[in-house]
Amino acid sequence: MEKAFAIPISRRDFMKLAGLTAAGTLLGVQDNVPKAEASAAPAHRVDFEKAAIPTLFNVDVCVVGGGAAGTAAAISAARKGAKTVLVERGISLGGLATQGCVFPCMPTFIAGSDTPYITDLNKRMEKQGAPLDLGIETNTYYGGGKGQYVPEYLTLIYDEMCGEAGVEILYNASLVGTVTKDGKITACVVQTAEGLAKIKAKVFIDGTGDALLARFAGVPTEKGSEKTGRNQPMSLRFEMGGIDVGKVYHFFKNDLNDDYGKDIFGLVDDALKENRPPFFEFAKWKKSENFFKEGVAKGELTEDDILYIQAFTIPGKPTVMSMNCPEMPPMSFSSTDAVSASKAVSFGRRMMRHLASFFIQNLPGFEKAYISREASMIGVRESWRIRGKYYMDVEDYLHARHFTDAVCRTAYPVDIHDVKLDLFKKLEKGQYYEIPYRALVTNEIANLLVVGRCASGSFAAQASFRIQPTCMSMGEAAGIAAAWGISHGIEANALRWEDIPAEERSYMSEG
Ligand SMILES: Cc1cc2nc3c(=O)[nH]c(=O)nc-3n(C[C@H](O)[C@H](O)[C@H](O)COP(=O)(O)OP(=O)(O)OC[C@H]3O[C@@H](n4cnc5c(N)ncnc54)[C@H](O)[C@@H]3O)c2cc1C
Repeated sequence: MEKAFAIPISRRDFMKLAGLTAAGTLLGVQDNVPKAEASAAPAHRVDFEKAAIPTLFNVDVCVVGGGAAGTAAAISAARKGAKTVLVERGISLGGLATQGCVFPCMPTFIAGSDTPYITDLNKRMEKQGAPLDLGIETNTYYGGGKGQYVPEYLTLIYDEMCGEAGVEILYNASLVGTVTKDGKITACVVQTAEGLAKIKAKVFIDGTGDALLARFAGVPTEKGSEKTGRNQPMSLRFEMGGIDVGKVYHFFKNDLNDDYGKDIFGLVDDALKENRPPFFEFAKWKKSENFFKEGVAKGELTEDDILYIQAFTIPGKPTVMSMNCPEMPPMSFSSTDAVSASKAVSFGRRMMRHLASFFIQNLPGFEKAYISREASMIGVRESWRIRGKYYMDVEDYLHARHFTDAVCRTAYPVDIHDVKLDLFKKLEKGQYYEIPYRALVTNEIANLLVVGRCASGSFAAQASFRIQPTCMSMGEAAGIAAAWGISHGIEANALRWEDIPAEERSYMSEG
């Protein structure tokens, strides 16, 4: 779990930051704050309208990007009878959850957030052996989003769900442009094994995470924090196998006296006694901090390496832990700069090796461990976000706002991994905010929906709505709306979610 919602600023980072901003910024004073370029330039575009490019598909709905959000959108549209193509540049669906090794799925911290698609996915996952309920029901774990999506199960389940729904998946295909006419996208252009190809559709859904389809179509976007101008830091996640997880747990609990996971201590002890795989995490946090700092003092790790350290056991993989690290210093790398994001991969890979050998040499339980999996996609928490018909702001979170056209609910905190510039209170138990359908559509392009981490919202708002279950529910609603709009002759951005009959909607606000 991304439990630390903001990391403490190191002295070194403070000095760097002080050079960039006035100290008042750190204290939340708005004067002299160097306003980030909130609006991002559109993606570099080629005019494909008259280019002689063959048409590969002519469908009702074309979804680009098969992450948590895009996959949900494609499956939901197809289930409602729309002829649907899902374009994915990799060879697995799931995006960050599979290619990015992101595990576990965060809870929304509010009951009633599991939309029908999530319930279905959770059941399928449970059948494969991933327990839905990890038995953790404490103050911190109330509410929905309990599904645990083991990457290797998820890839197959997604293929099966698409197959059953009739989604045509086009793997190994990268979006390179769009053709737009009269405020609508008529086709998108993709790079395939055969070369460039057009996909024509009545409705397009952007699930790229980076709002690439929207940017090609000229939709206004923004990126990074309004205060620092920086994007959320990226991570290059990995998994290690061959771990004696019981030994690791006892080291953190008994030797380091770490209380980071104290809520689940009893459950872990029970699991170990009964020879069941335990679910727990370790992190660089309070009492264990010195353990990692000593690694820096010994020259085995760098300060960057220990910026953020976190690891989780994975149900179904008894000797494996999923590393939510290394995290690249946000001052040095940006997810919205192509060259920088590429350099971050090599930098992250070196950090990964430092961390792995430090764990093997110093962490009891890791004596026989090895890197068993490296992410094949850099972990981008935030890049470009659209400015849609509704712009989600942190005020929506803070005031727990509800909307008549809500497509889902969440109470997940504002989870910013960077220096402590933005700290927002957690919502009270039972409070939640909702995401309106209007945050998924744009003023500029009538037949476009944008889902997942690039939906319409501010930097801080996105830091809450970016978690997997919320991305899935947004995608699910977009798929339903796309199919319903087509069958009723209503453009996606003119459609009112609340006009879709209740029994056909995936979520309804309780007001
Ligand atoms: C390091 C890290 C840790 C996180 N930890 C957690 C966590 O513990 N729990 C949690 O719930 N969430 C976590 N998150 C957040 C969450 O994983 C993501 O926000 C969420 O999965 C985003 O889903 P998405 O579908 O919007 O985007 P993505 O998962 O990024 O999917 C986008 C998809 O689009 C495809 N694509 C992109 N460009 C193109 C193109 N040009 N052509 C074709 N396809 C394209 C990509 O290959 C990808 O499959 C974490 C994120 C990161 C980066």
